[in-house]
Amino acid sequence: MFSCHFKDSTYSILVVDDDPVSRTLLERILKKEGFNVITAENGEEALNLFKNQYIPIILTDWMMPKMNGLELCRAIRQIESSGYVFIIIITAKDSRDDIVKGLEAGADDYVNKPFYPPELLARIKTGIRILELEKSLREANEEIKRLSITDPLTGCYNRGYLMEYLPKEIKRAVRYSHPLSIAMTDIDHFKNVNDTYGHQAGDIVLRYLVELMRSSIRDAIDWVARYGGEEFVIVIPETGLEDAKKVIERLRKRIEATEIDIGNDKKIKITASFGVVCFDPRIKKEMVDIDSIIKEADKFLYEAKNEGRNRVKAGLLA
Ligand code: GH3
Ligand code: MG
Ligand code: MG
Repeated sequence: MFSCHFKDSTYSILVVDDDPVSRTLLERILKKEGFNVITAENGEEALNLFKNQYIPIILTDWMMPKMNGLELCRAIRQIESSGYVFIIIITAKDSRDDIVKGLEAGADDYVNKPFYPPELLARIKTGIRILELEKSLREANEEIKRLSITDPLTGCYNRGYLMEYLPKEIKRAVRYSHPLSIAMTDIDHFKNVNDTYGHQAGDIVLRYLVELMRSSIRDAIDWVARYGGEEFVIVIPETGLEDAKKVIERLRKRIEATEIDIGNDKKIKITASFGVVCFDPRIKKEMVDIDSIIKEADKFLYEAKNEGRNRVKAGLLA
């Protein structure tokens, strides 16, 4: 059975031909097979359509006004699209040299006019196999990338991500002359939670804490990374010291007030200490490195611990 569907959606095919009779013929054949067909009269029109919308399969004529099929192939290959594009050239040109030219321009396959519909459909099916392979490879790569930056217990970013992306945040702060704040947090007497309720309860508390942190910060701007054990870093870009202190103080109060359900009808409360530091490139002119900003946040965190825990200590990066 000929299959022209992604697991849950229909494939779209872009048909490019300046001859209306050929276009209509192709459109009819492909629609009958269940494809979603989009048509264009020449390469230029096709390219404009493609720039607005990724289309996985392109069937193109060679000789067309404005932009021919080869130029279209080359242009499509220059575009970074969201997935692979399988291109078949359909043309009356059939010398060996023409076939070589077509493939070298970026076409994946080649069909002679007048075409035999079952052959064209079989070649499209080959294209779909390649598209599906490419899609699963791409998804697997994205998943590997995601796992490599994620803390498996809590789902927040891991230390590797922090070490890679905090320097980028610092550079951005300098480039746009914006302050950048970070908070380092450590759960108070967390060892007691593990000792009293078990390691699993401790894990639940860590996950819960990350949820509280994530829901207390701005989506898509601020982010949380697990620095190690029960220590986390919250990165708060484009935010000065006073505002960062407010955000973290609000979070501290939420943590203190929250009853965490650790299972077996048990609810417990925890507190956490925070060290907040703000790097303001308008005040501090020299570039800072990630170590000095983290060290400073750590220094404030230990002040918070020493002064009795469950508090926020903060300051500008000197
Ligand atoms: P303080 O207020 O000084 O921070 O005291 P504390 O008990 O929190 O500090 P300490 O550093 O002595 O203990 C940290 C504990 O965190 C010890 C360790 O077993 C626990 N921990 C670290 N990672 C995990 C984890 O992934 N799961 C659980 N359940 N516990 C963890
Ligand atoms: Mg602790
Ligand atoms: Mg600790």
